[in-house]
Amino acid sequence: MKIGILGLGLIGGSLGYDLRSQGHHVLGVSRRESTCERAMALGSVDVASVDMNLLAAAEVVFICTPIALIVPQLQQLIYHLPATTVVTDVGSVKAPIVKDIVPLWKNFIGGHPMAGTSDSGIEAAQHNLFVGRPYVLTPDETTPQTAMAVVEEIVRSLGANLYYCQPEQHDQAVSWISHLPVMVSASLIAACMGESDPAVLQLAQNLASSGFRDTSRVGGGNSELGLMMAQYNRQSLLSALQGYRHNLDEFINLIEQEDWVNLKSKLKSTGQARPKFVE
Ligand code: NAP
Repeated sequence: MKIGILGLGLIGGSLGYDLRSQGHHVLGVSRRESTCERAMALGSVDVASVDMNLLAAAEVVFICTPIALIVPQLQQLIYHLPATTVVTDVGSVKAPIVKDIVPLWKNFIGGHPMAGTSDSGIEAAQHNLFVGRPYVLTPDETTPQTAMAVVEEIVRSLGANLYYCQPEQHDQAVSWISHLPVMVSASLIAACMGESDPAVLQLAQNLASSGFRDTSRVGGGNSELGLMMAQYNRQSLLSALQGYRHNLDEFINLIEQEDWVNLKSKLKSTGQARPKFVE
């Protein structure tokens, strides 16, 4: 199959590696000429260009640009594609993208591979990035069965675990497990930096170890990504943050009241719940 990838970065480049290794012919388009050359040299794509017209020959196109560019790029891309081309995207937020693309392109299905690293760009692309990871598809009542079947088959072939849901359900779910943790973790770092005694702050920084490393990791990462989560998933993120604040208040109350029995039982129940999210 001829498969097009628009945006040869971490996700687009990684898709290219795996699709090529399964014998697909991969056509890549990216913004910079240097990225196109590098993607070809690394073997992530068969051929690459900065000219979108290259994708006219693709049967399926994956849009893998930063979130803010997915819809604008699709608006340009459609002038190059026959109506039969199936288009999907990999954006980390789904409702606003699906809402804008559905009226523009019939053969579209939204997608989100839940895989990645903190690095970006073609050099960060990896083989087998999607193996054993969730990959969410968000069809709606207008999505053609054929488009769904084609993308589903490709996703399964990546070794990913396929999930279907509505775009809004996806955005609410990722606000809990991905976007809220970024804000909580960033707040943790900001709160620690608010320590008013410089000697204590320095001591805390010297003593910080694995617990702090785990809990601060996602808040100390790519600020652009955090900003995009807030901009594109604002409503869901706000409701998750309010749920979090409610829980934080409960902890404050229990500690203020020295209610150790209920504090213990709350901590016990969170300990029991954690394996439902991660092993
Ligand atoms: P990335 O590594 O920064 O790659 C994005 C690539 O898009 C860049 O390498 C850039 O290529 C290209 N690009 C930028 N503007 C372009 C344009 N106007 N036309 C064509 N190509 C353009 O980002 P990423 O992490 O792969 O993320 C891409 C998408 O995947 C985002 O929508 C994100 O939400 C989603 N996603 C990310 C992760 C993650 O963990 N990173 C996980 C799941 C989904 P040049 O080098 O040519 O400028």
